[in-house]
Amino acid sequence: MTVFDFDLLVIGGGSGGVRAARMAAQRGAKVALIEAQAMGGTCVNVGCIPKKLYSYAAHFAESFEASHGFGWVGTAPVLDWSALKANRAREITRLNGIYLQLLKGAGVQVIEGWATLVDAHTVAVGAQRLTAKNILIATGGQPSVPEIAGREHVITSNEIFDIDPFPKRLLVVGGGYIACEFASIFKGLGASVTQLYRGAQVLRGFDEEIRHFIAAEMRKAGVDLRLNADVASIVKTARGLQVTLQDGSSLEFDAVLYATGRVPLIEGLGLEALGIAQKPDGAILVNDNYQTSLPHIYAVGDVTARVQLTPVALGEAMVVVDHLLGAAAGKAPRSMSYDFIPTAVFTHPNIGTVGLTEAQARERFGAVRVFKSEFKALKHTLSGSSERTFMKLLVDAASDRVVGLHMVGAEAGEIVQGFAVAMKAGATKAVFDSTIGIHPTAAEEFVTMREPVKA
Ligand code: FAD
Ligand code: NDP
Repeated sequence: MTVFDFDLLVIGGGSGGVRAARMAAQRGAKVALIEAQAMGGTCVNVGCIPKKLYSYAAHFAESFEASHGFGWVGTAPVLDWSALKANRAREITRLNGIYLQLLKGAGVQVIEGWATLVDAHTVAVGAQRLTAKNILIATGGQPSVPEIAGREHVITSNEIFDIDPFPKRLLVVGGGYIACEFASIFKGLGASVTQLYRGAQVLRGFDEEIRHFIAAEMRKAGVDLRLNADVASIVKTARGLQVTLQDGSSLEFDAVLYATGRVPLIEGLGLEALGIAQKPDGAILVNDNYQTSLPHIYAVGDVTARVQLTPVALGEAMVVVDHLLGAAAGKAPRSMSYDFIPTAVFTHPNIGTVGLTEAQARERFGAVRVFKSEFKALKHTLSGSSERTFMKLLVDAASDRVVGLHMVGAEAGEIVQGFAVAMKAGATKAVFDSTIGIHPTAAEEFVTMREPVKA
């Protein structure tokens, strides 16, 4: 019988890798985790966490403004960008340490460096050779920037957190999660922000009305959102970055952020030599147990380019651990459902959504009852802000089940998480109707929408 150094070797210390390594070690497996950069991966270092911290920072601008309507007097404080960056960096370093301790505490051997698959059971890290019965690839993704003239002058979400000096004039290219979030955040932090999206409306894949509503809200908040627009070239001048658009017009910025999608991080992994099947974009192909075309090699998270969200990577990692070790621990096989994954876009205001868009619901169920509510949140009756809230419920007419729930408004992410549980449990509109609201909140609207606007 072959003796391996480890039962499980995890490549990548991000959301998926850390969860799998820790859980497997806690169940008694001999586990090592290889990480080339900072512990915690994208989410902790250049993703969800620092992004949300900057979003909080940006929201203060609205709050200072709104406070006058509530009787507060005086001028608003100004942002010390260096202090925000330093405080964020300190917190991220603390989290890096916590992740490392969690792994070590569970008995995981942590190895620093870039990993390459040498053969089906061997991984190289520099001169070191490690063998394992099973291998998990959780190497995540990286920003993708198209080949445009002047590409060398642009930054991505990896660099924006530490940009120096603060970009007073920021161009954001893209219309997805990252572009919309950073356009909102930097507007709130005090930059003049222009956002260019090549298509007819931002956030392709979201409910149509949500897309239009958030675009209008972002414009009201001061983002110069330009649709059907794209960059032709970028030239560096003494005054900044001269950006020529495809319509021939020209604009000047201090920084250009490209948020045009992410691609799997597979460079130097050695997938091709082992014949591990990939999609044309490089994403690793997996089955329902996250096994690649070599069944003892697994892959989870962004490197499989399915749903690029931290909780999804965590869920997938847990399926892998159960698949490998569940039987021994007396656990039934676990599978991951991709239905009703709630998600939030931390624009200002937030988007929160779970389930189907109206178009998807109509395609799947035919007859769909649509409930909507649009209103000025109570806070804004005094704040002076013209921000509005929008909520939408989609109900399968045949079963009465709520199959889509969407919101644009303050704390939409917090609100939608709870409703996602109800929807996962199969809640019908009748159940929503029989639920007592919490007054006065925005969330109570979801249980008080009585008349469908469309059937
Ligand atoms: P990652 O977290 O990317 O981890 C992969 C790790 O593998 C990295 O640390 C990398 O250094 C390491 N690695 C790669 N190759 C090798 C190698 N050969 N050897 C050794 N180590 C290697 N998701 C949300 O749910 N909510 C959010 O609010 C959110 N905000 C985001 C904001 C931004 C700006 C970005 C970019 C992403 C955001 N995401 C968010 C997405 C989320 O960060 C990812 O879905 C998640 O981090 C994926 O986890 P992962 O384990 O697949 O990969
Ligand atoms: P997205 O895929 O969400 O958006 C990419 C955007 O860039 C789209 O608008 C796309 O347009 C556009 N685009 C793509 N290629 C080009 C090009 N060549 N020229 C111009 N525009 C282009 O990717 P992001 O980078 O915003 O984020 C990656 C993923 O990370 C997200 O999908 C999400 O899963 C995750 N994430 C999650 C967050 C959260 O949970 N809050 C926050 C941030 C990221 P088109 O639609 O026309 O293709």
